[in-house]
Amino acid sequence: MRTRTSVGLAVLGVAVLLGVGGWLARGKIAVVAMEKLYVKALSRAPDQGLPDGLHVGLCGAGGPLPDPQRSGPCTAVLAGKRLFIVDAGAGSSRNLALMNLPPARVEAVFLTHYHSDHIDGLGELMLQRWAGSGSASPVPVHGPIGVEQVVAGFNAAYRLDQGYRTAHHGAGIVPPSGFGGQAMTFTAAAGQPDLVLIDEPDLKVTAFPVHHDPVSPAVGYAFTYKGRRVVISGDTAPSARLEAAAKGADLLVHEALAPNLVAVQARAAKTAGRDRIAKIFGDIPGYHTSPEQAAAIAQRDHVRFLLFTHITPALPLSALEGPFLGASRTLFSGPIKVGRDGDFISLPVGSDAVTVTDRLKLIH
Ligand SMILES: [Zn+2]
Ligand SMILES: [Zn+2]
Repeated sequence: MRTRTSVGLAVLGVAVLLGVGGWLARGKIAVVAMEKLYVKALSRAPDQGLPDGLHVGLCGAGGPLPDPQRSGPCTAVLAGKRLFIVDAGAGSSRNLALMNLPPARVEAVFLTHYHSDHIDGLGELMLQRWAGSGSASPVPVHGPIGVEQVVAGFNAAYRLDQGYRTAHHGAGIVPPSGFGGQAMTFTAAAGQPDLVLIDEPDLKVTAFPVHHDPVSPAVGYAFTYKGRRVVISGDTAPSARLEAAAKGADLLVHEALAPNLVAVQARAAKTAGRDRIAKIFGDIPGYHTSPEQAAAIAQRDHVRFLLFTHITPALPLSALEGPFLGASRTLFSGPIKVGRDGDFISLPVGSDAVTVTDRLKLIH
């Protein structure tokens, strides 16, 4: 008995010593771990560990109102090894880097419309893409008419920084010719068929007009990669063109604004004597889609998975997801997710599978 007690005490003593030693060396251990994580982060391709497929990540699941769990609108599309971004709201670049979808790897950007919350991260995204990649040509930025003005503005705003970085690192590392964006303007008119922007054997990207009046033009996008398809709504009221484009899609990424919760905000603003703000809250439901409306569209379209994004208003408590969704889950028989930053939906080729992970939680 005494022997067993002595052994126990000895083991406990060693454990305490190891614990104290580890605690004293915690800084050194953390630095070693940091270096390993950096090596891992810098050497992993965005598609590493993924099956060949169409993968869609929310690099920003929010709208214009601040939400700690949701940055400004940004949807990443990884088609095999090729990375595309739809909209670039505030915080996009940081989320992309944290999700191992580095801005340096972005092949092209697609903008849905020019409300500030959809473009306020574009300058940073273009700069990060240039500085990170050393590309000799600017990133193509596709968008309906107006994109040339937006891209020229951000190019001008970041031009001084381009000069600093070239002076600091040298033109061989950050070639001035690759700075910024190249506007790729298109017209997606109401009476015309969906516009084909990329048409390759494995990848097709189309744009179609949606209803966001008085914001016009405004478009949504569809990406098809080796038979798997995602449709991204952009900002829109219920749209027949979107509904036509999303028929049979594997994934519908739809904006959603809950009018019942925005009404609560409007009432609160009135109570607080903020009539101007109350009027703005009263105006916004008209050019967005409610979760229930989007769920009904998804049901009619037989889509496989419905992912809500551009979540409005902010949902600081997860208990608000129920009131946000309303009757959506009874209107759509498939799975629904209220999007958060980091959500990553995988559609492997050659199957009907849809898998959901949190790309901000995984160490890639
Ligand atoms: Zn918006
Ligand atoms: Zn908008």
